[in-house]
Amino acid sequence: MTIERIGVIGAGQMGTGIAHVLALAGYGVLLEDINPEQIDKSLALIRKNLGRQAARGLIDEGQIEPALARIKGVDGLAALGDCDLVIEAALEDEALKRAIFKELCPHLKPSALVATNTSSISVTRLAASTDRPEHFIGLHFMNPVPVMQLVEVIRGIATDDGTYQAALEIVKRVGKTAAYAEDFPAFIVNRILLPMINEAVYTLYEGVGNVEAIDTAMRLGANHPMGPLQLADFIGLDTCLAVMQVLYEGLADSKYRPCPLLVKYVEAGWLGRKTGRGFYDYRSEHPVPTR
Ligand code: NAD
Repeated sequence: MTIERIGVIGAGQMGTGIAHVLALAGYGVLLEDINPEQIDKSLALIRKNLGRQAARGLIDEGQIEPALARIKGVDGLAALGDCDLVIEAALEDEALKRAIFKELCPHLKPSALVATNTSSISVTRLAASTDRPEHFIGLHFMNPVPVMQLVEVIRGIATDDGTYQAALEIVKRVGKTAAYAEDFPAFIVNRILLPMINEAVYTLYEGVGNVEAIDTAMRLGANHPMGPLQLADFIGLDTCLAVMQVLYEGLADSKYRPCPLLVKYVEAGWLGRKTGRGFYDYRSEHPVPTR
């Protein structure tokens, strides 16, 4: 299975990072988003981040323009018809992802593979909404993609060996390490990480500590590089809530109930860094805790 041309659906935080690392590894990338303005933003951000990597000596200056030239923004899923693989990185919403696959699949060649970057939703269930469950796989990149070493690879019940091997090959070619996870709610990383973040929000909700105390406690007391609330803002509070809901419903255990304060922040549209405000307010020079 030769993969050279890869489609990426969703040019948000994750789609941007995925397009970046694929292009740097030499793949041709077609980047699609329902909001065309997002593609321009994404391409500008990739340019900036490649520049940053060059300034740090992680890549050569000469790699920047060829990588950018390999990424093309496209309008509509029909434009992905020639791809050998399409990676979906739209919002963490099962109905939305299913609708995307339903529209996408009729445009694809029979041999094309489809992957999802979902943080938590069942790969088997998403695969069943396509015409090619055997060619469907979970490729869970971490945020920020150019920096983080891990990609979780998740096989659905029907995923065939060729698709799995092709996924491992892509992870290797982008210079990352794969961890295989079975298809259970939130896989490995988020099964462990998100309940910790949710507990940090409960700690805030119950007044055990304020935002600053909780983050300082976990940075200096547990040696975490980032506090859990800072990390939640980085991930996106809508994504955090969606993952907790998948854990709560998928494992039917009350220990995963999302904290009401997390729900409130999401309802307010305070989704973290991407909207300028979450547990911290990012609209001035330095982040200011909101509680
Ligand atoms: P985001 O909000 O930054 O980006 C989502 C993008 O999808 C937006 O640009 C939006 O316009 C686009 N979109 C929405 N509906 C679409 C449609 N129908 N067709 C095409 N594009 C559409 O979100 P994100 O943080 O990039 O998350 C994307 C996916 O990656 C989610 O499934 C999330 O769970 C997963 N993920 C997120 C993280 C993280 O830390 N944020 C980490 C790993 C995986």
